[in-house]
Amino acid sequence: MNNDNIPDNPYFLLTPGPLSTSKSVKAVMLRDWCTWDEDYNLGVVEKIRTGLIKLASDSGEYTSVLMQGSGTFSVEAAIGSVLPPNGKLLVLANGAYGKRLAQISNRLKIETIVHDSGEVKQPDLELLESTLKSDPAITHVTVVHCETTTGMLNPIEEIGKIVKSHKKVYIVDAMSSFGGIPIDLQKIGIDFLISSANKCIQGVPGFGFVIAKKEELEKTKGFARSLSLDLYDQWKTMEDGHGKWRFTSPTHTVRAFMQAMIELEEEGGIEKRYQRYSENHSILVNGMKEIGVKCLLSEEMQSPIITSFISPGSPTYNFNQLYYTLKERGFVIYPGKVSVADTFRIGNIGHIYPDDMRSLIKNMQEIVFW
Ligand SMILES: *Cc1c(COP(=O)(O)O)cnc(C)c1O
Repeated sequence: MNNDNIPDNPYFLLTPGPLSTSKSVKAVMLRDWCTWDEDYNLGVVEKIRTGLIKLASDSGEYTSVLMQGSGTFSVEAAIGSVLPPNGKLLVLANGAYGKRLAQISNRLKIETIVHDSGEVKQPDLELLESTLKSDPAITHVTVVHCETTTGMLNPIEEIGKIVKSHKKVYIVDAMSSFGGIPIDLQKIGIDFLISSANKCIQGVPGFGFVIAKKEELEKTKGFARSLSLDLYDQWKTMEDGHGKWRFTSPTHTVRAFMQAMIELEEEGGIEKRYQRYSENHSILVNGMKEIGVKCLLSEEMQSPIITSFISPGSPTYNFNQLYYTLKERGFVIYPGKVSVADTFRIGNIGHIYPDDMRSLIKNMQEIVFW
């Protein structure tokens, strides 16, 4: 397809999502699909489901389910569908998305315990170990991989070891990292991983997905606390109907996602994308350092996805002026979300390349008004 008639975006979205997408991803949305026809079910949905499983593990033990809605809908579908009626969830939280896991669980009246390590600290692994030892009622443990609130990368592998040594089911919200950071589900012991279309795979918003250990998902029939967010039913319908969704699927978004997956493969897969994001991130951090703007987190906790910067202390600084000046120059950044410090955030995922980050830094250096 010729993309000449697809307009340039007025600015890059340097946010946690939705993200800047390629013209070719946007272009494939220019046609309509029958949701019951094999062109769509076999030609698009099943290809995506198989592709996701391949990205997750080559063990053959995993399956995937797509779910309408934003990422949170898939998180709610997973928690509400995989915890048995007498299940108990331990949430390791260190930011807004970790808190949301607990909020969902509480709203669904699931017995929930939260270990909140605060926004700038990683989960306490000794406490996790001792809690799992002393409270056998806990059935499931959940954590966010990249806590987008700060950009913190949580140690899902170390957590997985402890969770698995106690034979608990392990649920990971890898919304803002899957596709951008290599994750071997089998090796880490993840039973359910949740992500969405509009993050590191670089599709457009409209649905999320769960990659599940088949053996674990099969045990969850009838557990769901919601009809539309019933993960098992959605999976069963997709399996038996070869790509059929229970209710209207976001066809254009799904088609765009298939294109995004093709482009991920063309780029060289997750490892190569991880390298690009890492390069974007280091150009960003080094450039900001040069103008005296420091990161909230120390480097070893920091993801190559999104970075929290401490707002300049100068009395002439204000976020709105920075935001609108940068927006005029083609870059949208994001406000901070932590209580421990005044911060703002800059994401470097999506259809964004090292040259774009260099251009951001050049603009940043030109506009310093504080
Ligand atoms: C983006 C994101 C979500 C989902 O947010 P939605 O607004 O529902 O798409 C969940 N968890 C994390 C860590 C995220 O970054």
